[in-house]
Amino acid sequence: MSENKEPAAIEVDVAANLAAVNDAIAAAAKAAGRDGGEAGLVAVSKTQPATAIGPAIRAGQRVFGENRVQEAMGKWPDLKAAHGDVRLHLIGPLQTNKVRDSVALFDVIETVDRPKLARALAREMVKQDRRVDVFIQVNTGEEEQKAGVWPEDTDAFVDLVRDELGLNLRGLMCIPPVDEECSLHFALLRQIAKRNGLSELSMGMSADYETAIQFGATLVRVGTAIFGARRPL
Ligand SMILES: *Cc1c(COP(=O)(O)O)cnc(C)c1O
Repeated sequence: MSENKEPAAIEVDVAANLAAVNDAIAAAAKAAGRDGGEAGLVAVSKTQPATAIGPAIRAGQRVFGENRVQEAMGKWPDLKAAHGDVRLHLIGPLQTNKVRDSVALFDVIETVDRPKLARALAREMVKQDRRVDVFIQVNTGEEEQKAGVWPEDTDAFVDLVRDELGLNLRGLMCIPPVDEECSLHFALLRQIAKRNGLSELSMGMSADYETAIQFGATLVRVGTAIFGARRPL
């Protein structure tokens, strides 16, 4: 790295980045022999202020992801009120004491990973008379510190979430371990979804979304490639 490089006073061009990511998604889908429409983009706006999200909405992006309920509650009610067709996904861990707020704010919860949470969500959706779509997060790398149901427990959990509780289960989501070949995890997630008759796969982030599409992702969750580096909270 050269030391006399310009300081990083970088103006991120969100609209241009978004267009580039959309192009890359379409190209990856085409290369995999899929229709472009099959892979949706969740623009991950965590740590980004409303001033960074606005340009993405104006450029036509409608689906966004946040990983913290509290942070999302601070910026999204106003944005959603102003843009009624925006859809918000929760992609971070959900504590049961935040279930009420989450059902009220989010349109999709991608991180359902334990019976207690699934039951609390089912009860809250009835209470609020509001159906929120869900994904089950699978801990494909079996990492102790990471959220998600383990692969071997997923079939039984699908039965609970979809069949017993009647939640609108759209598919499975995973976050592969950082130090492992992501494609193995994408393939595993696809296999578990297939044997459970689930059609949607939320997988792939800035570094690996093209690979994820190759392995059948129907949703990719992309943050830094659109918004630039995350900001300190
Ligand atoms: C932050 C985050 C992303 C996006 O990560 P980038 O590398 O910034 O694209 C995707 N999924 C989850 C669950 C995240 O927390």
